[in-house]
Amino acid sequence: MKTIRDMADRLAGKKVLMRVDFNVPRDKQTGRITNDLRIRRALPTINFARENGGRVILMSHLGRPDGQVVESMSLRPVAQRLAELLGADVAFAADCVGPEAEEAAAALKDGEVLMLENTRFHAGEEDNDPEFARRLAALGDVYVNDAFGTAHRAHASTAGVAEHLPAAAGFLIEKEVEYLSRATENPEHPYVAVMGGAKVSDKIQVIKNLLDKVDAMLIGGAMAYTFLKQQGVGVGNSLVEDDRLEVAAELLEQAGDKIILPVDHVCGREIEPETEAQTFDEEVPDGWIGLDIGPKTAQLFADKIKDAALVTWNGPVGYFEIDRFAEGTKTVAQAMADSEATTIVGGGETAEAVEVLGLEERISHVSTGGGASLEFLGGEELPGIAVLQ
Ligand code: AMP
Repeated sequence: MKTIRDMADRLAGKKVLMRVDFNVPRDKQTGRITNDLRIRRALPTINFARENGGRVILMSHLGRPDGQVVESMSLRPVAQRLAELLGADVAFAADCVGPEAEEAAAALKDGEVLMLENTRFHAGEEDNDPEFARRLAALGDVYVNDAFGTAHRAHASTAGVAEHLPAAAGFLIEKEVEYLSRATENPEHPYVAVMGGAKVSDKIQVIKNLLDKVDAMLIGGAMAYTFLKQQGVGVGNSLVEDDRLEVAAELLEQAGDKIILPVDHVCGREIEPETEAQTFDEEVPDGWIGLDIGPKTAQLFADKIKDAALVTWNGPVGYFEIDRFAEGTKTVAQAMADSEATTIVGGGETAEAVEVLGLEERISHVSTGGGASLEFLGGEELPGIAVLQ
């Protein structure tokens, strides 16, 4: 994969069209940016381009405007926050293509930055429309993609533009690929994968791909109950995907003795903060829902994580949004933080859990892309990365 470093001596005086992920969380009422981490994460690549004399033109999406101009999803406030973080002016073009964008791009001097309006205000973005991609590409001389979170989507700004310009990865994508590849190509052993979350169906491809590589796969979360039911273990009213029992059987067969399922369960009567809760060994009795791995399982998982050389984790092992069902997820996160192993956490809910617990700094790599990291670990080719190779 080419990176922006390989382009360093060709950036001076060039318009660097850069796809970033500025899809930041905002307050529903006021629209205020509630967390600017995604902007801060892009700074190294933006500054590298500037320091090498590039004229930086930034593209991003924000929210899901579905091809319409939606004022509340404008990137204007994001451009302002970026300017504060850079300590430099950031120009803004109210449309990502067309005369205003072209004039603003042409007016840039070396080291200056322009932010374009939300690419998803045009339907051509998500359709990867060739004409729209061509118009975007016309704004730049080279293309840099640093938006890992959307790299699994073949959109105009993440894939289409690369057909027209020399393309390279930014530092964020470089780091993602470096770490996630450790989990899929020649991994260190013992290699332990922790899987959780609501559905088996979302993660079949990842489980399949990783099973042949790992030494152990620890499965918690609601997902575990589809496997347990398949094994004839009582699951009470736990969330089960009955249409995935056959796939679960195939995966268990493929796994040999690699898959480790919960041996005890923290259960509730319903999915409510105030519900009656109780811990049961082995089976979930009728009338109860398994909502977290029990303390024995958590200890078992923690021991496996402690002895590993490499650990990947995707999906909370319990209904962690409710505090009393968050213990298992906390134990797994803490075990990963304490482990000497290379530790890799998938994006989305799992990354959120690690951040909430303040353990991010003690994990080797916390992915910035939920869907993208799942597809990567599933062995699939990501369109936004394929175009950089
Ligand atoms: P996913 O997006 O598939 O990784 O699923 C994450 C969601 O799964 C989180 O919102 C968790 O609360 C939920 N979850 C985890 N364990 C359970 C469980 N035992 N029962 C119901 N939901 C769960």
